[in-house]
Amino acid sequence: MKFTRTKSNTTIYSKVGVKKENGAYKCIRCGNQNQNLFYSYSDFFGDVTYCMHCVTLGRSDSRKPLRVISPIRYRKFMPYVLNFELNSEQLKAQTRIVDAIQHNHDLMIYAVTGAGKTEITFRGIQYARSLGMNVLFVSPRIDVIREIYLRLTDAFKDARIDLLYGEEKIEADFVFTVSTVHQLFNFRNHYDVIIIDEVDAFPLARDEVLESQIQQSKSTNGVIIYLTATPSKTLIKDVKKEHIVSITRRYHGDPLVMPKVFFTNVKQHLKKKKLPNSFSRLLKESMSKDRKVFIFVPHIDLLEPIKNVIMKEFKTVETIFSGDPHRKEKMDAMRNGHIDIMITTTILERGVTFKCLDVFVIHGEYFDDTSLIQIAGRVGRKLEDTKGNVYIFAKHNTLGIIKALEKTYRFNKGDVKL
Ligand SMILES: [Zn+2]
Repeated sequence: MKFTRTKSNTTIYSKVGVKKENGAYKCIRCGNQNQNLFYSYSDFFGDVTYCMHCVTLGRSDSRKPLRVISPIRYRKFMPYVLNFELNSEQLKAQTRIVDAIQHNHDLMIYAVTGAGKTEITFRGIQYARSLGMNVLFVSPRIDVIREIYLRLTDAFKDARIDLLYGEEKIEADFVFTVSTVHQLFNFRNHYDVIIIDEVDAFPLARDEVLESQIQQSKSTNGVIIYLTATPSKTLIKDVKKEHIVSITRRYHGDPLVMPKVFFTNVKQHLKKKKLPNSFSRLLKESMSKDRKVFIFVPHIDLLEPIKNVIMKEFKTVETIFSGDPHRKEKMDAMRNGHIDIMITTTILERGVTFKCLDVFVIHGEYFDDTSLIQIAGRVGRKLEDTKGNVYIFAKHNTLGIIKALEKTYRFNKGDVKL
């Protein structure tokens, strides 16, 4: 059954979407107060102003009331299947999540990339739903959302889970929802447990409007569970140390792959339509072992020049970036084995899992430690391929590179510094 939005299951929470206060417009829905993002015009009925900041979600204007979906709450026991056994660290984190929900406080799971973060939340989700709490799984990254949805529907086989992102919508009754932050405008005081994946990821880390959407969709006594491999200092401070659980081991038990760093100026080589020898040698080595390769570049301008050089030797190479209209097709082609080497901007730094993957970073001096840790975290995630290679090519050393190496080293020793 598809949920249909009728007036009876929505509630008016504001008489109008856009209000004028002290001569300035304010959007009640998204909180926008930037006057350049309001558009006014007149028609037969008079003047009307709407907010351009959130217009992709339908218009919030000075004429129509704003409605939200009225929350319903009911208890439901949801069995789930997990096709691997949680290790001791994961079990501990799982218990802490249930405990946080029970005792009504926020919690942060600070876990290495590939720790199996999603799976750790299942018991908490089950616990919350059995008490009639509404659960929301949210991520700022669109690519991550679909992946999470698939994993949740795979585990909770009988559950009807809503999926809200971009154009795609699967709507049940909004008691268990997977959503991007942008789609939360339709909910107020609705979710009792909110799990935020990749909390430090763009754009949430920088966008207060989106942050306020999460707070508004949360019920008064709601609990937030933050999942992250690279928490910001502010978040660590906000959550409080006693409410942070760290997971230093990957789910398969093997250590994180330690990046190897090479100092060389790739741009100089590209001028001569070449790549550094070390780079070519390692790329050849990866290809000869039938591995897949991601090459990360700091700027979109580098995509084509690198592709042109690599094309001389390997034909199965493609480029990808966030505005790429063929983004999905190219990723599918790589999954189907038609593409071996993907040259990419940072859009693939999170949420993507391939087996037998090596990553190369070009001009690593432009990446911060968070980015480098996420990028390196793509490698060795699969049970059948836990090793893999991470190569960073940089013009010179940076604090970002040093920190990324240091944090990886510490994690592998089971030592987390907050
Ligand atoms: Zn707005």
